[in-house]
This record gives sequence, structure tokens and C-alpha cells, in this order.
Amino acid sequence: MREVYRAGSLHEAQMLVDLLADERIETFVRNEHLQGALGELPLTLQPIVCIIDDSKYLAARTIARDFELANRRDAGPDRLCGHCGETSPGNFSVCWKCRKEFAPTDVNEGE
Ligand SMILES: [Zn+2]
Repeated sequence: MREVYRAGSLHEAQMLVDLLADERIETFVRNEHLQGALGELPLTLQPIVCIIDDSKYLAARTIARDFELANRRDAGPDRLCGHCGETSPGNFSVCWKCRKEFAPTDVNEGE
């Protein structure tokens, strides 16, 4: 078993699982049962899409990467954390690193 993708939500994980299933790649989602009770999801409990058969890893990663790029396009520009300076995808509401919530001023404005 090998990890291929950390999803931002269970919905996102499921979309990738479906894509991988189309390619006959068997998957397993770690942490999928932890959501719901928690509201805002700690990053350590993100759903993690894993594949059962390690030999499919490269194919799975290619699909996951394309999926991620498509998601990020929809998410808008990356957000720069005003607290720690790390960049997060535009659809994140908190910094992936320090978990500080983004203020509107944290969006890249090209000042
Ligand atoms: Zn931060």
C-alpha cells in the first residue's frame, strides 16, 4: 500500500478514488471515517488516498497530479500566509503549515 494523495476533503478524496477506479487502480482512503465529528479538519486527519498495489504507483501519481492541478486551477491563486510565509492552495481556508486562518490581506495582491 502506498500513499498517493492527501485530499482537502472527503469529497475531493472520493473524486480521485473514482478517477483511479476508472484506470482499475484499487484504492484505500485513510482517515475517511474521522471526518464529520470534527468540523474543520486538522491537516493531520486529511483523507489520504492510498493504492493497494504499489506497482501502480507511477500511474496513480500521474492521475493524482493532474487531478491536483485541475483542482488548483479552480481554486484560484495560491494564498501567502501572513504569519509564517508559506504558500497554500487558494481553496485552503487555513495555512497548511501553521494553521492560521487566512485574512483577506494574505491573498497575493502584488503590492
Ligand atoms: Zn502559515
